[in-house]
Amino acid sequence: MRPQLVSPMVRRWREETAQDPEGVWARAAEQLHWFRKWDKVFVWEFPSFRWFLGAKTNLCYNALDLQVAQGRAGQAALVYANERGERRVFTYGQLLWEVERLTAALRALGIRKGDRVTLYMPTCPEAIALMLACVRLGAIHGVVFAGFGANALADRIQASGSRVVFTADLTWRKGREIPLKGIVDEALRRVDNTVERVVVLRRGPELPPMEPERDLFWEDFVARAAAADGGWEEMEANEPAYVLATSGTTGKPKLAVHTHGGYQVGIASQGRWCFGMRAGEVWWATSDIGWVVGHSYIVYAPLLLGCTTLAFEGALDHPGPETFWQLVQEFRVSGIFTSPTAVRLLMRYGSAPARRFDLSSLERVVCAGEVLNPPAWEWLQKEVFEDRIPVVDHWWQTETGGPVVGNPYGVALLPIKPGSAGLPLPGCDVAVMTPEGQVCGPGERGILVITRPFPSLTPALWGEPERYARDYWERIPGARVYFTGDSAQIDEDGYVWFAGRADEIIKIAAHRIGTIEVENAFLAHPAVAEAGVTGRPDAVRGEVISAFVTLKQGHTPSEALKRELIDTVRRELGPVAVIGDLHFVSMLPKTRSGKIMRRVLKAVTLDRDPGDITTIEDEGSVEEARQAWQEMRASLEQETPAGS
Ligand code: AMP
Repeated sequence: MRPQLVSPMVRRWREETAQDPEGVWARAAEQLHWFRKWDKVFVWEFPSFRWFLGAKTNLCYNALDLQVAQGRAGQAALVYANERGERRVFTYGQLLWEVERLTAALRALGIRKGDRVTLYMPTCPEAIALMLACVRLGAIHGVVFAGFGANALADRIQASGSRVVFTADLTWRKGREIPLKGIVDEALRRVDNTVERVVVLRRGPELPPMEPERDLFWEDFVARAAAADGGWEEMEANEPAYVLATSGTTGKPKLAVHTHGGYQVGIASQGRWCFGMRAGEVWWATSDIGWVVGHSYIVYAPLLLGCTTLAFEGALDHPGPETFWQLVQEFRVSGIFTSPTAVRLLMRYGSAPARRFDLSSLERVVCAGEVLNPPAWEWLQKEVFEDRIPVVDHWWQTETGGPVVGNPYGVALLPIKPGSAGLPLPGCDVAVMTPEGQVCGPGERGILVITRPFPSLTPALWGEPERYARDYWERIPGARVYFTGDSAQIDEDGYVWFAGRADEIIKIAAHRIGTIEVENAFLAHPAVAEAGVTGRPDAVRGEVISAFVTLKQGHTPSEALKRELIDTVRRELGPVAVIGDLHFVSMLPKTRSGKIMRRVLKAVTLDRDPGDITTIEDEGSVEEARQAWQEMRASLEQETPAGS
């Protein structure tokens, strides 16, 4: 490792993690409150493992009661804002009171420890308080993103076996009202009947459809609170706090389990180490409670660490491109957690909207979800922030609960290498391996694996122990490593570079190129807003690249621009990056969480059915890509004489 990249602190943690990983995590756990301490820090009966065995805790107790006991009753815990300009603030004392009421109401409804509860709700204070209330009494919440359709919701309700579904009449997005209750009704017609009650939060003027025996309004649910107790349950550290479906699932969703103990230790520690979160600051994760980021870094970690968490409902560019920046100024936000897709969205509008606001409260922006493409990083870091604050990438998955690879801002900010997600974080052991289990050398591409469980790593898939073992721990036979499914390499300084999902790698004439490398190359051209690429079969080269590109405001598609883009990619990656076809589209197929769905692009170029697209943001994107592809093929067929 090159000396200038290693601070003494970083060196110390690496040594500690290598020599005594359990000690690192035991010391981290000491920072939290336990009703009873653990008998053993870690037990690994491959592939299953447990952390803080025998310890008693409660994630909600530490997030609220403990904070109040430490003197934060009057500090803002949760600030809610939405795209309609509405604002609500809850202090720690108020939020605790609200959560106690909901806990009592859940008990009065018959919900007990271990029961599953589905939330199909937008990111609003009621939903956040309800998540905390479930956790308080030991019920297991399963939040389903309120933009999913009936099928995706039905699959998730079915997989969790929920007894109750909570929903709202509607949510707002880009100025539109999106009704939710009808989708719940539709979903419930498709699942076996485990759901006894549906509770509906009413926010709009219209009465949503209600089924008399089954459905009740939020007020009537809350009114039951008087009949029960709002106290917490002491939970064994390995008991589940919640389940959450992993993204991009095909067919039956996988529900990752996160626990009261290990999960809490993991997310709070990385909140400090990776993001530098601290009590009293205003923290904004721009995600949604439907995703793991929403769980860990809108709700649980900010409260565990005594921050004020900002929760925003709506689109970041609505009512206008200044919305995002205005919120930073209005609430004096000091830390932002956002995604590359959000950065690319803001970038489309240029830096003028940002310049209109006072962003001096901001100390850092952390980003995850996809590779933070160097041009997007450059724009935010250099053009918007003029290098005043760091913009740092970090990597994780629903299953890991919190970050695993990143730039440890809270310990010591290391030099940023644009395009790299950073280094393995304290307490996390990763490696890059070939599919046969050989550890790759510096710069060699393979699959990122986790070589030892850390506390927030999912210890189970709900109800599916065999699938858990098969999908994560048995993918590289004999290696006893957790398979992330991501293709990556580690450079000589220890920085991890992600290339895309392992099954999305493009093989051109025996060269292997990551989808992300090609997309980054496209983004190097100033006209490109986003690019999604996939490999398609080619008789000569094995595969060539099919590219789908969206343009920034003010640029129009043309043959000349197409040629320029192809030249740009060649210049960036060399002649091996053979673009077979390039299509301009107005939007890319993306998941609701903003990840480009390359498997859909692949299906389009193979004239196949795209399979399960219940998690897609806009189905129109598939049709558009398909049309672009078919038009191109038709024009090729016209040009090519039959038989040639
Ligand atoms: P999810 O479970 O929805 O959080 O998605 C996890 C997946 O997102 C990972 O397996 C990666 O493929 C991708 N991902 C997340 N963060 C990054 C990052 N910083 N760089 C590259 N890929 C990322």
